[in-house]
Amino acid sequence: MSFTLALVGRPNVGKSTLFNRLVGKKLALVDDQPGVTRDLREGEARLQNLRFTVIDTAGLENVTDDSLQGRMRRLTERAVEMVDVCLFMIDARVGVTPADEIFADILRRRARHVILAANKSEGNAAEGGYLEAFSLGLGEPIRLSAEHGAGMDELYHQLMPLA
Ligand code: GDP
Ligand code: MG
Repeated sequence: MSFTLALVGRPNVGKSTLFNRLVGKKLALVDDQPGVTRDLREGEARLQNLRFTVIDTAGLENVTDDSLQGRMRRLTERAVEMVDVCLFMIDARVGVTPADEIFADILRRRARHVILAANKSEGNAAEGGYLEAFSLGLGEPIRLSAEHGAGMDELYHQLMPLA
């Protein structure tokens, strides 16, 4: 039995960095296809002895017009409903933003299972944002650093029961 994990969060929180870390060289890029695959990138992830499918909501980064919020919402809702578990990422150096709160609401209502991660947690600049993340009502955040690999053990322990 395997499961599908979606990486969810506003642009620039570090989703693609984590996607690349989880997928490594097995990255399967799906570009220029209609529908969901245009906006969502899928790969086969490996984390210690776990194998699972990971979805990066990659298309969001390219949208800068006024429809961003509506588009984010629609995409997120689709992804959330497709998957077994969502990893909701915030940028611990920025703290919780209004967009993060929108995502948190969607996840609370629609996701089967949510794991919360405060990314960019290496160093002191992340402490305030980490503490703010508790206010999202999604449980205790993982102190993650997608770039440096910190917090991957904790992520493993939260994913293991789903395998
Ligand atoms: P996405 O838009 O959510 O996919 O975010 P990206 O993965 O593209 O990352 C956005 C920026 O944050 C890039 O410059 C990354 O190098 C940086 N980044 C990602 N993870 C970390 C991290 O753990 N720590 C720090 N300091 N920067 C990070
Ligand atoms: Mg990205």
